Amino acid sequence: MTTIENNLQAVRARIAAACQDAGRDVSQVQLLAVSKTFPAASVQQALDAGQRDFGENYIQEAVAKIGELAGMPAVWHCIGPIQGNKTRLVAEHFDWAQSVDRLKIAQRLSDQRPAHLAPLQVCIQVNTDGGPTKAGVTPEALPELARAISRLPRLRLRGLMTIPEPAADFTSACALHARARALFDALNAQGLALDTLSMGMSADVEAAIHAGSTMVRVGTAIFGGRTRTTA
Ligand SMILES: *Cc1c(COP(=O)(O)O)cnc(C)c1O
Repeated sequence: MTTIENNLQAVRARIAAACQDAGRDVSQVQLLAVSKTFPAASVQQALDAGQRDFGENYIQEAVAKIGELAGMPAVWHCIGPIQGNKTRLVAEHFDWAQSVDRLKIAQRLSDQRPAHLAPLQVCIQVNTDGGPTKAGVTPEALPELARAISRLPRLRLRGLMTIPEPAADFTSACALHARARALFDALNAQGLALDTLSMGMSADVEAAIHAGSTMVRVGTAIFGGRTRTTA
């Protein structure tokens, strides 16, 4: 068994245990393997171990990897910042964009999504901490942005994505994640029919699942430590 296969089994076991603790069915939580900075060969090992969904932050690096793995059953999620000059690459190569936080970027993605592909699956990144410099729309501006994005023809709004500040302990991590869950539930109560709440990383999978995450994004615990943290 490869290290990656071993790690994937351990992460799946963590997800299953967290679901059991939270009284949730394990089928309600998807695993996104975050493969940023790791080569196509590592993604291939994860594919061989049954993993299908992969998250990438650096768009140019990802597009090269997606090309190397063309024909493989991988589903690609963009989870990094999307500048205006990168929207075409995202629209043409990814299946999901989880880090959309401005209408202008969403409009470009919709305009540039090729007709022969399924609509781009989208999550809105929300800044639940209120930090002024961090990416993500504010909770106050979220409902209007969600309604506008849900009307764009070549996008399908699936839900929300959050990257909260690391919390000191399980209880405060749960409280942070619960804020995102409340925003998600409120949008659904307004009729948006969202099914994806993307939150939780290697360090806080359990707290995120406890608070109602439907997709955890795990890098380090699957692929190991990253030696590079920028593009
Ligand atoms: C890198 C990254 C992850 C994975 O983080 P780990 O701590 O390595 O599990 C998840 N989400 C986003 C947005 C990331 O940039």
